[in-house]
Amino acid sequence: MSVDKLAFIRDDVAALTEQGLLINIRTIQSPQGAWITVDGKKVLNLCSNNYLGLANHPQLKEAAKGAIDEYGVGPAAVRSIAGTMAIHLELEERLARFKGAEGVVSFQSGFCANQAVIPALVGREDVIFSDELNHASIIDGARLSRAQIERYPHCDPAGLERVIADKEKNYRRALVVTDGVFSMDGDIAPLDKLYEVAERHNCLFMVDDAHGEGVMGRGGRGIVDHFGLHGRVDVEVGTLSKAFGVVGGYVAGKKLITDYLRQRARPFLFSSAVTPGDVAACIAGVDLLERSTDLVDKLWDNTRFFKAAMKNLGFDIGASVTPITPVMLGEAPLAKEFSRQLFEEGVFAMALGFPTVPRGKARIRVMISATLERTDLEFGLQAFECVGKRLGVIE
Ligand code: PMP
Repeated sequence: MSVDKLAFIRDDVAALTEQGLLINIRTIQSPQGAWITVDGKKVLNLCSNNYLGLANHPQLKEAAKGAIDEYGVGPAAVRSIAGTMAIHLELEERLARFKGAEGVVSFQSGFCANQAVIPALVGREDVIFSDELNHASIIDGARLSRAQIERYPHCDPAGLERVIADKEKNYRRALVVTDGVFSMDGDIAPLDKLYEVAERHNCLFMVDDAHGEGVMGRGGRGIVDHFGLHGRVDVEVGTLSKAFGVVGGYVAGKKLITDYLRQRARPFLFSSAVTPGDVAACIAGVDLLERSTDLVDKLWDNTRFFKAAMKNLGFDIGASVTPITPVMLGEAPLAKEFSRQLFEEGVFAMALGFPTVPRGKARIRVMISATLERTDLEFGLQAFECVGKRLGVIE
């Protein structure tokens, strides 16, 4: 009798379905923006990472088209062989100047940037001190490095100090790594305090600021700028896939490190470069942010308005201090039902459950954007109030 080799997949999918954890992947049939078409229905978008509305911005689209005419659609090589075009270097220089960093090296995504940098800095004889809620791409990068991983309590410099002190110093190098803005909770790492601890113990210090780029700091220059730690943080990972509205990632920091990554980072050496169109759109994004803070200001205005109103309605929005606004609901089935009813009311906001967030901490995650007008936010709030009362989440 033949054995069903794929039974484990059927069993896992059945278990996910049973626990209300099977992801319902919706299809977007329009450009990103405040109102989008999802599975044939026009809905208010409170879901994507298009913080500044750059994903469908005319200037970015124009730049992408121009670059396709000039350079074609693909680089046809990895960066270290024949895939480094002048436009890649231009983006890196522009980002370094924008962020006030000594050097920048770009990658295919933020996820790739973490896979690139962590294994280049630490290896088998080393240790990584990692915030317990760090993003999956940091965790995977850390595992790939083969260094020992020691988790420290979330956003807790004293906890980090304890974990470092508990570990006998029988390792070669140490890296402290944290998210800047935590993507599921919207809280921010106390970067200055963590840096002090890392520095005292002579650890390399790295922050992944995927959700802080274009959002935190002066005019969206990121979390290192927010804390005024220029030149001190060894590695700042950023993404071009969220506020910048395109796709890609980068490492900003000490030039010695960013140049070293051109020699050692595996995604740079073994995976083809980002397309010219994407790169040109990112440069146009930097242009926009350098010219005006209007979009970033509007993002924060919208954020303050929405958060205050949600608190007033009686929702638990956790410890968020950024545009990421979790609406804490507890169990995954309730979060899924909440999201389904919001959709019926014309609002697109996804439920997130385990393993994206810890068990029992399922939530709807609202992403605020500068594309939203006050009337849009009011429409969203009304839907939250209506569904919240119907499901007994608020009174
Ligand atoms: N790091 C963090 C903290 C993130 O939230 C994300 C996106 N989910 C990434 C890295 C990956 O970025 P990208 O989408 O550019 O791969």
